[in-house]
Amino acid sequence: MEITQNCSLQNLHSFGSNEKANYFASIDSIETIEKGIQWANGKNIPYLILGSGTNVLFTKPFEGLVLKMEIMGIKKIKETASEVFLEVGAGENWHHFVIYCIQKSWGGLENLSFIPGTVGAAPIQNIGAYGVEVKDSIESVTAYDTQVGQIIILENRKCAFAYRTSLFKMEQRRYIIISVQFILQKQPIFRTEYGAIKEVLHQKNNKQHSLEAISNAVIQIRSEKFPDIKKIGNAGSFFKNPTITKELYEALIVKYPKMIAYPITDDTYKIAATWLMEACGWKGVQKENVGCYEKQTLVIVHYNNGPGIEIYNFSEEIIQSVLTKFNILLEREVMIY
Ligand SMILES: Cc1cc2nc3c(=O)[nH]c(=O)nc-3n(C[C@H](O)[C@H](O)[C@H](O)COP(=O)(O)OP(=O)(O)OC[C@H]3O[C@@H](n4cnc5c(N)ncnc54)[C@H](O)[C@@H]3O)c2cc1C
Repeated sequence: MEITQNCSLQNLHSFGSNEKANYFASIDSIETIEKGIQWANGKNIPYLILGSGTNVLFTKPFEGLVLKMEIMGIKKIKETASEVFLEVGAGENWHHFVIYCIQKSWGGLENLSFIPGTVGAAPIQNIGAYGVEVKDSIESVTAYDTQVGQIIILENRKCAFAYRTSLFKMEQRRYIIISVQFILQKQPIFRTEYGAIKEVLHQKNNKQHSLEAISNAVIQIRSEKFPDIKKIGNAGSFFKNPTITKELYEALIVKYPKMIAYPITDDTYKIAATWLMEACGWKGVQKENVGCYEKQTLVIVHYNNGPGIEIYNFSEEIIQSVLTKFNILLEREVMIY
């Protein structure tokens, strides 16, 4: 394992801010993971696992060892009349894997097309889009448990998957995901009920649904909605949609009848973070190098590769304004370092 000193993180994360890490190495096997951890522990410095860096924000230099996940491989474990079981290395590119499944006519992940990142990071925040979450296609996750120094297999029900979170996000430094085991459908159920997908399929006069047609519709929608990470620094949606009590919802809806919300349980409602931000006047706002993307307020964009702390401070202003106006605390979806 080769360890580089004083490494720029600029090309290793999608916000593209110019922070540095004291040390950097790639990990492409269980042995290199163990070596990396031992090395960092020996020096008494922290370590951080990085996939494609599309859900992280560095606000200062990382005074430790960044380990870039590069364990590769897609392996069929078993097959039944209706399902296929695959084991996929954590370093595989997520979108390439989704396209691989579509080409084989295996369904389940097509609505999650074009989400940037690695396979290993997908369970961390239980990636989701267009009515689908990755947890629905995960059988188990294989991880290195740094607390006990062993490889463990966690079945789906033990991963504590929920909206944009999981056991791996809650106990962030404990688990290093090595591979993910997926169950895919040989007779897929097409999930086209999401408004924008329906609309694109209708525009294309696509009456006969297919995995490919759904994936193409998702790619089209996402290309129009999200800025290209190769051109403008961003990490997709910056905040989660907050959940509030029925009591607060009932008080707010009287005052703001246009508020976008939907019930989650008998006692809780989810509110669109975009609506809250726009009601506080954040639509299209830009301050120096940072702003809300004009086509999607929830996406914070970063121009000119300035320092990451600017993005953090901008997001803090948004949080404070929403808290003051609505008494709702926005939570960042992006991981802060
Ligand atoms: C334009 C754009 C659109 C997006 N759209 C969506 C969307 O629709 N839905 C959605 O859910 N997300 C979305 N995201 C967020 C992001 O793509 C996902 O969270 C993705 O899974 C991150 O993958 P990554 O490899 O880049 O993770 P990174 O950003 O590298 O890491 C994210 C976190 O996971 C940890 N981590 C990464 N890999 C491992 C591993 N193998 N083991 C242990 N910890 C690890 C890191 O330490 C970090 O804390 C979007 C991002 C962008 C830029």
